[in-house]
Amino acid sequence: MSDLTELYQQVILDHNRRPRNRGRLPVANRVAHGDNPTCGDQCSVFLRLDGDRIAEITFDGQGCAISQASASLMTTLLKGGTAPEAKELYDQFHRIVTTGETPDEISDLAAFAGVHAFPARIKCATLGWHTALEALRSPPITPAAGAGGGA
Ligand code: ZN
Repeated sequence: MSDLTELYQQVILDHNRRPRNRGRLPVANRVAHGDNPTCGDQCSVFLRLDGDRIAEITFDGQGCAISQASASLMTTLLKGGTAPEAKELYDQFHRIVTTGETPDEISDLAAFAGVHAFPARIKCATLGWHTALEALRSPPITPAAGAGGGA
């Protein structure tokens, strides 16, 4: 089990060191912002919905290692999926960070199981996810200038 714990810590460290899909997304047609005042974490999620698929997704923000690593991992898992799939992954992730129970199969989500022992950090871990789900529910926006399609 300790090997597994170490492996999972590596996942968090790696996402901190090399965040995936970080930065604004000029072609985004859905955007949401979230913050976690108790820790000072901030997160914005930009995504481009193509039909019901998340064609592209990025995040931007600042905050503690847990919040940033979790948002980075979230973008890698949601990309290419649908809104219901995103919700399902979030439910799975939420169960892991609130109970510490991990799925039988090895999943990067389980890297955050240790968070359950620190209830104040659960909001750090779920911030990016909440923000992504909010972006999926939000009304479409016109992509930023330069992406074509004059209005
Ligand atoms: Zn935090």
